Amino acid sequence: PSTLVGSTQMSNVTVCVRFRPLSHKERKTNGDKICFKRLDSESFVFKDEREEDVIFSFDRVFYEDAEQSDVYNFLAVPIVADAISGINGTIITYGQTGAGKTYSMEGPSILHCNNQKTGLVQRVVDELFQSLQSSESMATWNVKLSMVEIYLEKVRDLLDLSKDNLQIKESKTQGIYISGATEVSIMNSSDALECLSEGIANRAVGETQMNLASSRSHCLYIFSVQQGSTSDERVRGGKIILVDLAGSEKVEKTGAEGRVLDEAKTINKSLSVLGNVINALTAGKQNHVPYRDSKLTRILQDALGGNSRAALLCCCSPSASNAPESLSTIRFGTRTK
Ligand code: ADP
Ligand code: MG
Repeated sequence: PSTLVGSTQMSNVTVCVRFRPLSHKERKTNGDKICFKRLDSESFVFKDEREEDVIFSFDRVFYEDAEQSDVYNFLAVPIVADAISGINGTIITYGQTGAGKTYSMEGPSILHCNNQKTGLVQRVVDELFQSLQSSESMATWNVKLSMVEIYLEKVRDLLDLSKDNLQIKESKTQGIYISGATEVSIMNSSDALECLSEGIANRAVGETQMNLASSRSHCLYIFSVQQGSTSDERVRGGKIILVDLAGSEKVEKTGAEGRVLDEAKTINKSLSVLGNVINALTAGKQNHVPYRDSKLTRILQDALGGNSRAALLCCCSPSASNAPESLSTIRFGTRTK
């Protein structure tokens, strides 16, 4: 390989790539042809647009044999620890539809908890309660959960479908918040699980009613951890926002019209704004961060920039048949560094 792309320098944004195992369908249509060559836990070889071998490096690369716990330990543990000490954090999954974003977040199903395949969301919850219980007095802590979806730049409450156009606001005590979004107080993991299941079920209901595909919207799981009340000036705590992004695949240029074209344009725009925001942050251009260019980045503003910690998991299919989309996902990851 002639060129080295990417970097592993320290910054508040950790960027990782995850290749899921080949699917049954990919094996059937394309045999076992894999699009990358594994080098080590931080780099792999991938053919670029000109079919030349390039080494790509990231903070960590998870291959098909990586466990959910490996992903969690590397990119989420520091974020959960920080949230308790008042530092906000964000964990984002990016990639084409079918690349493993939701699997990484929720596991095969959010209801399959407490096993090897449990996803990031449930692991974050478990760790939050474990750490809070072992720290000082649990009674003074308040953990709240909201779930929203962003579709065509509208924020929808997944815990109350009647709220379908929530506004984003900012206050001195709360920072950036989604005005009117349902916030459920959760006391333990099983409360959280119940709430998450409801949000996920509501998402499916809304999609059926509106004839949408979940892959076309961003899903946000928002945990806020607070000590004291909001009337108390010494309130401390942070929030963790997990984001399962809309699929990054390119929509067929020919034939797309009406809503499909609107969707594609809006998704492209919000993903590229996200890329620009992360890029501005990692490049140290804190003064010119275009948070206001999309609803997503506006919501993430104080959990992505400033004194916060973020992780981006770029999910890829390992199959040679998906190589162009995977390359585009990998490029997104390198651009953010
Ligand atoms: P996305 O949310 O990016 O559209 P999914 O997470 O739904 O993709 O993954 C697509 C399919 O691949 C699902 O059937 C999922 O269970 C499976 N899958 C994804 N990642 C993994 C993995 N790391 N191990 C096993 N199966 C996976
Ligand atoms: Mg998904």
